[in-house]
Amino acid sequence: MLQIPDVVKGLLILICVFVPLEKIFAIHKYNLWREGWITDLCYYLSGYFIGRGTAQLLTKFAFLSQDSMLVLSTFMTQQSIGLQVFISILIADLSFYFAHRLLHTVPWLWRFHAIHHSSTHIDWLATVRVHPVEQFFTKTCQMIPLYWLGFSTEALAIYAIFSSAIAFFIHANIRISFPILKWIIATPEFHHWHHDQVSNLGTKNFAVQLPIIDYIFGTYYMPKDELPTEYGTKLETSTNYLNYLVYPFEDVAKNIFK
Ligand SMILES: [Zn+2]
Ligand SMILES: [Zn+2]
Repeated sequence: MLQIPDVVKGLLILICVFVPLEKIFAIHKYNLWREGWITDLCYYLSGYFIGRGTAQLLTKFAFLSQDSMLVLSTFMTQQSIGLQVFISILIADLSFYFAHRLLHTVPWLWRFHAIHHSSTHIDWLATVRVHPVEQFFTKTCQMIPLYWLGFSTEALAIYAIFSSAIAFFIHANIRISFPILKWIIATPEFHHWHHDQVSNLGTKNFAVQLPIIDYIFGTYYMPKDELPTEYGTKLETSTNYLNYLVYPFEDVAKNIFK
């Protein structure tokens, strides 16, 4: 029988869930074939394998360096799965929050993160436009604390599904209001403001799972009954997977070969 690879199955699931939702609840009218979709499809395919490779590498590193955290690790595995998942979300998003702030403030890191912000159309597919160096950097910041703290395999598996699902959800082009939920969990409205171009709000809403983290650190932004109208950071290169791969290194190369 024909075996469908997981990478294709994942894409089919995403299409079945988000294409109808974005058709019915669209914030902005654009279809699947909007500008840059081929670039994003390339990012989806490469990101899938880079993500798997990164996870294997980080698991090995964490396993080798875990001994010093043994006391905490034993304590964590004694907790219920629900509590472990809750704590893992809190720790991973806190780590992501600070990593994300660095991506916006350290000039050479911003060149990598600018690829994610180059999308002029924010929808579920724009989620995956992340440079491999950024993917490795943020995954390391999120996952190493979780591995060290010794969460159970089940808790980590639930966390992995949750973090992938919410990443696609917050980028989705859907205008659904979540009156109470929006305070507890990141929503499309919350993350779309992070991608806003007009008011240059790249310095707001850094968390991707728990908006309360931005609230605590004074970077929360969600004006009532408003949504961004334009997205994207202009790059001095055309939208293309390979151009975007080399873009962050261009300045370094220019300095070396000038
Ligand atoms: Zn984003
Ligand atoms: Zn950002």
